[in-house]
Amino acid sequence: MTTTTPPESQPFQAEVAELLNLMVHSVYSETDIFLRELISNASDACDKLRYEAISAPDLIADGAPPDIRIVPDKKADTLSVIDSGIGMDRQELIDNLGTIARSGTKSFLSRLTEAKEGSNLIGQFGVGFYAAFMVADRIVVTSRRAGSSDVWVWSSSGGSGFEIAPGSEADAARVVRGTEIVLHLKKDAQKYLEAHEIERIVRAWSDNIQFPIRLVAEEGDPRQINSASALWQRSKSDLSVEDYKQAYQQIAGAFDEPAMTLHYRAEGRQSYAVLLFAPSTKPFDLFDQARKGKVKLYVRRVFIADDADILPAYLRFIRGVIDSEDLPLNISREMLQNNPQLTQIRKAVTGRVISELESLGDKEPEAFAQIWDAFGPVIKEGIWEDFERREKLLSLSRFTTTKGEKRSLKQYVEDLKPNQTDVYYLTGESAERLKANPKLESATARGIEVLLLTDPVDAFWTSAPLDFGGKPLKSLSQGDIDFGLIPLLDDKAEDKKGEAGADEATTIALIKDALGERVSDVRPSQRLTASASCLVAGGGAHDRMLERLLAMQNKAPTTKPILEINMRHPLVAAITADKDAAKDLSFLLLEQAQILDGELPEDPAAFASRLNHLVLRGLAKG
Ligand code: ADP
Ligand code: MG
Repeated sequence: MTTTTPPESQPFQAEVAELLNLMVHSVYSETDIFLRELISNASDACDKLRYEAISAPDLIADGAPPDIRIVPDKKADTLSVIDSGIGMDRQELIDNLGTIARSGTKSFLSRLTEAKEGSNLIGQFGVGFYAAFMVADRIVVTSRRAGSSDVWVWSSSGGSGFEIAPGSEADAARVVRGTEIVLHLKKDAQKYLEAHEIERIVRAWSDNIQFPIRLVAEEGDPRQINSASALWQRSKSDLSVEDYKQAYQQIAGAFDEPAMTLHYRAEGRQSYAVLLFAPSTKPFDLFDQARKGKVKLYVRRVFIADDADILPAYLRFIRGVIDSEDLPLNISREMLQNNPQLTQIRKAVTGRVISELESLGDKEPEAFAQIWDAFGPVIKEGIWEDFERREKLLSLSRFTTTKGEKRSLKQYVEDLKPNQTDVYYLTGESAERLKANPKLESATARGIEVLLLTDPVDAFWTSAPLDFGGKPLKSLSQGDIDFGLIPLLDDKAEDKKGEAGADEATTIALIKDALGERVSDVRPSQRLTASASCLVAGGGAHDRMLERLLAMQNKAPTTKPILEINMRHPLVAAITADKDAAKDLSFLLLEQAQILDGELPEDPAAFASRLNHLVLRGLAKG
């Protein structure tokens, strides 16, 4: 062992330095969580050792099962958390304790700096190892990678960097495998030296860690202070809501309460235990491009993988554990993809999660609402992706409609108007804007409910041909709409229908002539009652909102919209009456419709000057 190499200083990655600075100065009062983070890392390290030892049994040739020890030292004012897990070599110490690999960290940190109430956000992020700097002004990590003869020491007092050096002979004698983390406690963190404090925190946060946690206090013998059983293997009747909450927080590294808990054991062709949770709040990386799942796979209590793609991407918010009795222990992570047993488990568990969500929606609408508010946009990805479960996912979905909030399609269908055969929707940026959209007018006049879809993902899933209970979903801004058979609420309004409007053919010809290539067609509208015009997509084309999203990403050539006009509107009538203004008026019909859809006219300056021109002309006449 080389003990002569001098310690080497290295800077933290900028994000780490920023995070540390936030931790040190934050008002975050829940400093207890540092211990939970360190124990959770120690437990992960024990899991990893057991996994690697499956193919390399020599790694645990000493026969000692992995464990975790907590050692307070009142004379030195230090608290140590020691594990006999996988350990870290020099490079791992540098990479793991000097950088944050998670994507989205940068944007998270900037949100954290802006937010006044930073503490909730810290919880969302799960600060991990760095949480220890809330209670320690200096941290020394001594580690030996399992199977290695080298011991390395990482140390830091926070600030901008850390030191890395080879361990001394004493270090090597003390740390035979795994990691020792020594916290030099701050003055105001001395309470963490008290055995009862440590025990309280472990019971509250880490009781269900699978590995034994021993407290090695100065007074008395070392004793185990957690139950060290895999909670998911225990029977439901032995577990309280509190137990589940703790298990959820520990497995997910979360701080919120689970909005749904699903615990069962499957027996039969395959046996496995399932413990899954739906969080009640959104994690910050929910919309990460990788769409990684968070359900851990165990085989007979041995951790195998963090993300075995057990659930489809649209259920990536679900957290928890699947523990199989039948999969081979030595299954490699690469083999997980194609393993037929796992394919069965995937299918069964996915179905179960969805039916559980469904029954939660029926029985506990408030708990379900929490999940829907946080993860609805993610679940809706499934309507598009999971053809087999499309109908089920549609019935899970809740919508803001012209009738109210959180409406299900089941409710929608129960409230259909006489002769109504379709489920109508409109996509756009906000419900408020949509409510003012002229395309709703005719539906509103008939009391027809319309789904107001405002999540970006809505534009995508609605592009698939869909129906619910045999009723097709139909966009109010696409294709032909025929409300002819559905009675008006106010039947006196019916009379107006017969009122002579402007000459249809002439009007349309004039508008087409004026607008030329700007629109693909001009036609009289069934949708409008009060407004003059609106833009819709052709029957075969993308819906208008999807067009807009795709255009933003340069994904598809935009197709030209159809301009629908209200033949009874005075502005439309004016086109034939005042041929000099016909061109300006035609453009105005188009540009108004664009604005009402939340778009800008192609040439805002020309729009303004046209408008001014028409107004002045009107004033001069009047
Ligand atoms: P996370 O646990 O979410 O990955 P942490 O900040 O808690 O984030 O830890 C960072 C990384 O440092 C871990 O992923 C792990 O690779 C490494 N690490 C931390 N503590 C230990 C330990 N006791 N033994 C082995 N590796 C560890
Ligand atoms: Mg961690």
